[in-house]
Amino acid sequence: MEHYSAYTMDKLLRPEGFECSCGKHHVASRLRKVIIGEKAVLQLPAALRELTDGMPLIVSDENTEKAAGVLVKQTLQNAGIAYEDYILRGEIVEPDELRLGQLMMAYSGKCSCIIAVGSGVISDICKVFARMAGIRQITVGTAPSMDGYASTCASMLIGGLKTSLYVQTPDVIIADTDILKNAPMRMIQAGLGDMITKFISLPEWKMANMLHDEYWCEETSQLVARSAEMCFEAAPKLKDRDPEAIRLLIEGLILSGIGVSFVGVSGPASGGEHYVSHIWDMQNMEHHRKLELHGIQTGVNTLVMLKMYAHMKQLTPDAEKAKAFAADFDRKKWEKDLRRLFGAGAQKALENEEKAGKHDPAKHAKQLERIMGCWDELLGMIQNMPSAEEAAALWGQTGAPTTHTAIGFTDEQLTDAFAMSPEIRDRYVGTRLCWDLGWIEEAKGWILE
Ligand SMILES: [Zn+2]
Ligand SMILES: [Zn+2]
Repeated sequence: MEHYSAYTMDKLLRPEGFECSCGKHHVASRLRKVIIGEKAVLQLPAALRELTDGMPLIVSDENTEKAAGVLVKQTLQNAGIAYEDYILRGEIVEPDELRLGQLMMAYSGKCSCIIAVGSGVISDICKVFARMAGIRQITVGTAPSMDGYASTCASMLIGGLKTSLYVQTPDVIIADTDILKNAPMRMIQAGLGDMITKFISLPEWKMANMLHDEYWCEETSQLVARSAEMCFEAAPKLKDRDPEAIRLLIEGLILSGIGVSFVGVSGPASGGEHYVSHIWDMQNMEHHRKLELHGIQTGVNTLVMLKMYAHMKQLTPDAEKAKAFAADFDRKKWEKDLRRLFGAGAQKALENEEKAGKHDPAKHAKQLERIMGCWDELLGMIQNMPSAEEAAALWGQTGAPTTHTAIGFTDEQLTDAFAMSPEIRDRYVGTRLCWDLGWIEEAKGWILE
């Protein structure tokens, strides 16, 4: 078996992929080329011609048009390449049915490649569009703000519910550091925020395997850990928009996405901290408020989860207490809270619980037995995590807001979303462990300290 986690980006993208000790064959979907560096956009015409002789459709929004769309179009004109274009208008562009529909209705049907000019939202809308239209995709990144560029997953709003659509990666990603270094500082902070989440997501992915028999891959876990290290190395100089630091950050973000594409699940890149962020997004959608950046919310919630774990490691699990807590579960109140917090998304969460039975006392007792059986091992993993202060200091070097109140969420919005986060889906995360041990109510206090 090959140990690919330390391979260069080019090697990781080989079309034949990798046989892995986890039993799966890993390949980065259809991503074959990542071009990172100064003036990388100038390589767009050649990359496009390698993919197709046909015409591209360039998609941007009003901000990304200014940041890179104009340059992309100029570059294609200089190369004598004709194109169609579409700009998603308006200050707020969400990845929802409306925006996908607008793009579909504006499309002539004459293009063989879509060029997404943007970051998370535009890149994800284009991933879904490319699949539907059966065409190629090149993404020209405009901000190092999240780790989804190279992921097969598109994070879409469907009926107001944040949903992960597994589609495909782009064929080519162009990350021009001359463009990326001029991204709004908050988006650069968000990029590092989405990478400190790996302090939580990686151990939680392993925990899910130990406690809940979920699929796990050690090699991919190491790959994603390495991608996070690259971003941490960049941290001190991001505030100055240092080109080398921006290059390290975007490379780490793209590598993390490749890890997700390899395994076809989001486990290595997202844990309970992402779930709290999803709940906040759903609430803001429900109340027609502008959404905060994904990486800012997940970064803040990483610090929240680290506080939770710091308390957990000082406690000794008490099976009787945990059983009494589970026996006290008030289904009516829980359902009411779920509807209040999840809005339109509550129905799906209720159906999930119907299947999973997380709160069924008999299932809980069995789960508890497994937890008690490997508590020492779990404790070892928790002890390896940094403290919330250390992670805040790392991320704080960018000037990022590191508390929920600094980004406009109340204590109650935090504790509500925290306690309800295991209900997002039937994946085992730390807040579920906390619930299973009967600690979730007291944990609301821990995370506010
Ligand atoms: Zn594997
Ligand atoms: Zn993320």
